Formats: sequence, structure tokens, C-alpha cells
Amino acid sequence: TTAELQAADSAHFLHPFTDFQGLARKGARIIERAENIYLWDTEGHKILDAMSGLWCVNVGYGQKALVDAATKQMQQLPFYNAFFQTATVPAIELAERLAQVTPPQFQHVFFSSSGSESNDTIVRMVRRYWDVLGQPQRSIIISRHNAYHGSTMAGASLGGMIGMHAQGGLPIPGIVHIEQPYWWDHGREQGLTREAFGLQAAHWLEEKILSSGPENVAAFIGEPIQGAGGVIIPPSTYWPEVQRICRKYGVLLVSDEVICGFGRTGQWFGCETMGFEPDLMTFAKGVTSGYVPLGGVMVGERVARVLIEQGGEFNHGYTYSGHPVACAVALANIGLIQELKLVEHVREDVGPYLAQAYAQLAEHPLVGEAQTCGLMGALLLVKDKARGTAFPEALAMGMVCRGHCFREGVIMRAVGDRMIIAPPLVITRAQIDEMVALIRRCLDLTLADAVK
Ligand code: PLP
Repeated sequence: TTAELQAADSAHFLHPFTDFQGLARKGARIIERAENIYLWDTEGHKILDAMSGLWCVNVGYGQKALVDAATKQMQQLPFYNAFFQTATVPAIELAERLAQVTPPQFQHVFFSSSGSESNDTIVRMVRRYWDVLGQPQRSIIISRHNAYHGSTMAGASLGGMIGMHAQGGLPIPGIVHIEQPYWWDHGREQGLTREAFGLQAAHWLEEKILSSGPENVAAFIGEPIQGAGGVIIPPSTYWPEVQRICRKYGVLLVSDEVICGFGRTGQWFGCETMGFEPDLMTFAKGVTSGYVPLGGVMVGERVARVLIEQGGEFNHGYTYSGHPVACAVALANIGLIQELKLVEHVREDVGPYLAQAYAQLAEHPLVGEAQTCGLMGALLLVKDKARGTAFPEALAMGMVCRGHCFREGVIMRAVGDRMIIAPPLVITRAQIDEMVALIRRCLDLTLADAVK
């Protein structure tokens, strides 16, 4: 029964990013099955998953092609590694396919099993690159506050989540942060247009490069759109200026595409939507739609040439780098994204449709700003709409709203008072109507709580 499962859960399972004490008191909601964009829990409730699990189930649940690919590969060859000059067929085929769907500078991939491992690989790889070029002092990596790049020591260090840094003595040496390009918090009160603010935020990078000494800076890493930080969509001026600054000082530019990749923003990769050409790109989640774990680093020609022609052995790799089952599922997943034309579906159909719906939600008395890009969306809850005043943190209005969503049957995530969504790319217009109606209802219920 649900109660028995909850008791066993509380007794044995330490959940990620969860208040261990709170979980023991409340018990988890247990998800049992899923189809398309819907989940069902063990008590039979149907829930619209507006978060694609954790931003990953891009093709939706229940796609038989992915299940078949996994089954077939498990029967034929469940595992072999890619160490010491061996390889498997799916890993080679996936490497080739990734070179086709990523921007043209990417012809090589290094596989991992997660976004965190991919970003760990970045730290080692960019430092190795500068070592090989005889500039070992170029080891500083610049990232941004409120970014999320994973939970390993290096991933959490690259990330700019203060709560994570507070636990475990992070960041590790050589990783520094600049402010995020969040207009609402940092540009609005100065009276800057979004475009002018985008340039200002990019110049924070230049200031950090200069204060660190350009000869010491290895790379800059950022998510095209900060996801877990609250779906922070930067102004259109930001990324092209960041790229110009990186090129000016020879700093490698890394795009963390773990959330934005594989169609989420209406192009295959977020850097294409945001208008920049990274030297390296990390991915995970959407590459397999989360059906099995897989991640990796796309290595652009600038770095690949040096590592291949002058680098010798790179002492780095994971048992599951290029896992054949994961690669077989990724091939089926990419095939399905192409067959269903999901990238075009997001760019030309449901992305603009969601944007229209969110423009209407922006009128809601609780909403300070409503933003979307492709199938990522954010609603900022504010106390005073005219002035844009925030609610006192202690009220935790985001969590109040999330609680309503939970009970009403739609999964949204709360980041402070930003309510965020990233539904499966297979969502239809009718399902967007259904999702937005649920969200509106939850906003109304939250508003009723706020005025109490
Ligand atoms: N990078 C970004 C942008 C992410 O959103 C995440 C996870 O949410 C990660 C990296 C870490 O990925 P994983 O949880 O697969 O290690």
C-alpha cells in the first residue's frame, strides 16, 4: 500500500535535495506510471508533468521506440567499455549522429553518464588544453551566481548556488563567479532596458577576466538559459557580447546544454537560440529523454585539434563512458525527435503558443513578469504588481503555489517566488490550454492565500 511504501521510503531512502527531517514526517508522493505528458501516483491521481521529470523527458513518457532500443541492446550486448581502444557499435553511431545534429564546430564527443560528470570533465579538459599549449597557469574558470552545473565537487563549484557552497567547503580552488544576467533583480531598478542590461551583465565577465589576469583565465561556462536558477532568460544582447569578450581574451567558451539541449528552446541547442558559438558544450538529460542516464561533452575543433594532435593520453573517463544501452536509447531518441519534427514543433507551433498564453498570465494580479523561451517558462510572483515588490521571503509564496499545483494535478517547480515549467516537447496546443488553465487556477488559489 502507499502507506507501507511511504514507511519504507522514510526508513531507508535518503532523497536528493530533500529535507531529510521533513520527508520522514510527511512521506513521499509515489509515482507509479506515466504516459505522454501525464503521471499517475500510487493513489491513482493523474498529474500533468509540466517539468518533464527533471527537464529531461523531451519525447514524453511511454515511447516504445526507446524501450525497444534498450531491450534489443541489452539482449545483444548489455555492456562493454570504451577504454583501451575498444568501442561498441551504438557508441560509435551516436558519436557520429551527435556530430550531425550539433553546430558544425563539433565533430568530437566525450561521453559520461550525467550532467555533473560532463561538467567535471570540462574542468579537467580545459585545464588539460591550456597545459598542452604550455600555459598551465590558465586554470581559472569563470561561472555565474545562481547557476546550476551539477552536484559533484567540480559541478557544484561551477554552480553558483550559495546553499550548496555552504555545505562541503566549495568552491574548489580556481573557480570564480560573476553575477547572473537577471534583469528583474539587477537591471530593472536602475531603469535599464533589457538590452542595455544584457551588455552590462556581459561586461561583468570582462571585469572578472581583467581582475583575474587574462593570462590566468581558462574558460567561461554558462547555461544559455539558467534553468534551476529560475528560468532566467537573458536579454538578446548578452550572449553575443559574452562571446566577443571571450574571443578577445582567448578564453574558452563553454555552453552547459544539459537543460537547453535537444530542442527545449526551439533549436537543437540553446546556444543556437541565444546566438553564440561555444568551444565546448555539455549535455545530458534530453539526449535520452531521461529514459536511461547518459551525458557528454561536445568538443569543438579548437580544443579537439590540440588534444588530438599534441595532447597524448587524457587520464580521464568513466566506466559508463559510451554505455551501449544508453547510446542505443539516445540514437532512438534523436531519431524520434527528428521523425516527429519536435524541434520545429517547439519553434513554430507550441513555443509561440505558450508565449501567447503566458502573455495573458502576465496580467494576473500575482504575476510580476511572465517569460518563455521555446518550452521553458517562468512566472514571478509579486506582492505588489504595480511596484513589482517581492513577498517577504518568510511567506515562501513559491512553495505555497507549488503546494496548490501538487494538489490540483500539475507539476510546477518553485525557485524562490519564480514558478517554472519545462513540459515535454510532444505537448499539444490543447494540452497547453489544459496546463495553463491549471496554472491559472493555482495562481488564483495562491492569491487567495496571499490576501488572507
Ligand atoms: N547542468 C545543468 C544546467 C543542469 O540543470 C543539471 C541538472 O539539473 C546538471 C548540469 C547536472 O546534471 P545531472 O543531474 O545529470 O548530474
